[in-house]
Amino acid sequence: MLGLKADWSLEVFERYFTIGDYAGGEARWCPGCGDHGVLTAAQRVLRDEQQKPELSVCVSGIGCSSRMPHYLGTYGFHGLHGRALPLACGIKSRRPDLDVWVATGDGDCFSIGTAHWIHALRYNMNMTLMVFDNAIYGLTKAQTSPTSPIGLKTSTHPFGAIINPHNPLTVTLGITNVSFVAQVVDWNPPLLYETLKAAYQHRGTGFVRIIQRCPVYAEKVSKELQADPSRFLLLEHEKGIPVDPSVQRQFPQRTEHDPSDLTRAFQLATDQSKIPVGLIYHNPVAPCYEDLSSQGSEMTPQERLERFEAVLDRSTI
Ligand code: SF4
Repeated sequence: MLGLKADWSLEVFERYFTIGDYAGGEARWCPGCGDHGVLTAAQRVLRDEQQKPELSVCVSGIGCSSRMPHYLGTYGFHGLHGRALPLACGIKSRRPDLDVWVATGDGDCFSIGTAHWIHALRYNMNMTLMVFDNAIYGLTKAQTSPTSPIGLKTSTHPFGAIINPHNPLTVTLGITNVSFVAQVVDWNPPLLYETLKAAYQHRGTGFVRIIQRCPVYAEKVSKELQADPSRFLLLEHEKGIPVDPSVQRQFPQRTEHDPSDLTRAFQLATDQSKIPVGLIYHNPVAPCYEDLSSQGSEMTPQERLERFEAVLDRSTI
């Protein structure tokens, strides 16, 4: 930004980013889709952190939520089905200075991308991982997903899904070196914002499962949850997600939970009678793979070529 000083010389002000600086194309999700709120929350986090848009990248796989790189005014990479995380890890390895956001869904991450989900969490690279979980395949029109509840009528199970849904929290908590696990709903904007901000500020992979409304194909799932806030358990702690009275009013069931307690985190994730929201587990000192894998990224192309040839020479017979 430029300003004219009293002596008619030009002064360069520090850049200040507004929400508009993080706006990409017009979001084409359905009206009432929970994805809109997640996009807004992510944009607010970027604005409040004053992160340079040109030093941020949003990576996705395939699915409704994976449209996010088109709508966020940063760099973006709309990848292949289930492959958001290996792309994000590759970017972080070579450009650790970039701020990486991953947008993936229950079908993308918990089904075809399962192996990547497990290994990326173990690598614990510094990124914000948003899993938009709407319990259905939305983009491909209502097939049963790994988190569809029993009885949900879908195009692949017209009489209702027949096996228990996957529990992404227990799987995530069981991954070696996991460092940040949170759960939130898309229809509580203050909690959603604070949770994404905490995941963003965490050094490591900030895994956030977002229970997300799909009013077109899985309306029953989110309507039932919205109608009964007592099904949720709000986690409160000085080391957890900050919650204000407006959030507390929305969740009548609350409990103190120290997010460094992995044993209790498992208990909360396993208990089917209540859905925990807030920070379930946090280990701020878990090692990050990019601290090793990004070594040498400052080398010149010539230095890289010489190193590469030296490696090849070692195999010369
Ligand atoms: Fe959102 Fe569902 Fe529409 Fe996809 S189909 S954009 S998840 S409401």
